[in-house]
Amino acid sequence: MLKIVVVGGGAGGLELATKLGRKLGRKKKAEVTLVDRDRTHLWKPLLHEVAAGSMDSGIDALSFRSHASHCGFSYQKGEMCGLDRENKEIHLAPIHEEGKELVPERTIRYDILVMAIGSISNDFGTKGVKDHCIFLDNPARAHLFHQRLLNRFLQFSSQAVDPEHPRSDEKVRIAIVGGGATGVELSAELHNAAEQLKAYGVPNVSNECLAVTLVEAGPRILPALPERISGAAHNELSKMGVDVRTATMVTEASTEGLMTQDGELVRADLMVWAAGIKCPDFMKELGGLETNRINQLIVRKTLQTTNDDAVYAIGDCASCPIDDSGKTVPPRAQSAHQMASCVYENILAGIKGKQPKEYVYKDYGSLVSLSNYSTVGSLMGNLMRGSMKVEGRIARVMYISLYRMHQIALFGYLKTGLIMLVGRLNQVLRPKLKLH
Ligand SMILES: Cc1cc2nc3c(=O)[nH]c(=O)nc-3n(C[C@H](O)[C@H](O)[C@H](O)COP(=O)(O)OP(=O)(O)OC[C@H]3O[C@@H](n4cnc5c(N)ncnc54)[C@H](O)[C@@H]3O)c2cc1C
Repeated sequence: MLKIVVVGGGAGGLELATKLGRKLGRKKKAEVTLVDRDRTHLWKPLLHEVAAGSMDSGIDALSFRSHASHCGFSYQKGEMCGLDRENKEIHLAPIHEEGKELVPERTIRYDILVMAIGSISNDFGTKGVKDHCIFLDNPARAHLFHQRLLNRFLQFSSQAVDPEHPRSDEKVRIAIVGGGATGVELSAELHNAAEQLKAYGVPNVSNECLAVTLVEAGPRILPALPERISGAAHNELSKMGVDVRTATMVTEASTEGLMTQDGELVRADLMVWAAGIKCPDFMKELGGLETNRINQLIVRKTLQTTNDDAVYAIGDCASCPIDDSGKTVPPRAQSAHQMASCVYENILAGIKGKQPKEYVYKDYGSLVSLSNYSTVGSLMGNLMRGSMKVEGRIARVMYISLYRMHQIALFGYLKTGLIMLVGRLNQVLRPKLKLH
């Protein structure tokens, strides 16, 4: 039977494995296997909410194994570490527990391989970043940030603070590097978290005791969005009290904080690095496939790798040309979603002996959520002949609908409706902030 292996169950890979499982796996027309190093899936654009505590990943994460058993594909827990294209096998690293090997290195055979392992943060080799900053790359890292955030607030709240005469240095100081969607959304979400902690009666803690600095090397935050929208987001953040520093290059991170190119120290107790992406180093020479300088696999417009028709790549780990100008598809959830649909069609076409179709990137715009305060962004479409700026309630509804589209791709309409209902109930039953 045809063996299809999808590596990485994220925004793109899980949607693809789900569709293939339903169409081919259930009818025993192909053996569809999803490999992921984690046991659960959480849509990555929600990680900043996990970090701030407004989302509980323990409740919202989806178990790969149970989803696979419902949808006609199989799941293998493991971290891919190599590829043997001659024998059409992928290698999974051994699994250890407390230094002891639980599961030895394994290989999985494939006829068609789809790489969908996403990306990790790129610190561009900046000194001290690996040791002192947290990368919001996966739920475990986001959870670690959340624990440290709660600890900083606990430490702050237990210090003897004189509410009549607060000193300006008595603050929980957080620095975020990167003024893209992640940095902007996290800054706003942290202010919401501080307000919630106050509402839950944590002594001495309020919005005023939080000092968030957002550092961006470029001339403005949200460079992918129109200037007016990025200006509106900048104003909103400033109103909340976020210190937004544009045109500021970070040269080093230390226990004290961030050092800038101008020799200024941005003092911080907690630091997040969200300033760029790359793919892990094992991708650099993956079975002789062609890669770019950030280790993404270079693909043709059919999303097949340049030198192997049997290996596709989608999402953040793929470098796909948009047109002949040299521009490539941006690393976004909507790109991963669209690429998953295209590869699904191409695999079915291949089975029928037809030619694969070319992927055409459709930019539906970008939306950025400033927690409960506001949502801003721009929508693109043929009807609008360009981009339309959206803000406020409409933007908020559109923002949430991006996640709903992902859920509908995984669960269908009925189950997504039930999940929304449970979400509503949880708003009443559970605290608005994860306090543990
Ligand atoms: C905090 C944050 C906010 C974001 N907000 C937005 C937004 O608002 N809008 C937007 O469009 N995009 C946003 N993005 C970007 C978006 O999340 C990514 O572009 C998208 O998730 C990429 O999808 P993917 O399928 O390529 O990879 P991912 O969704 O990252 O999934 C990769 C999967 O591969 C698995 N994996 C990784 N390495 C291995 C390995 N070696 N072996 C096995 N499995 C492996 C991982 O466990 C994961 O399940 C955001 C990203 C972050 C971090």
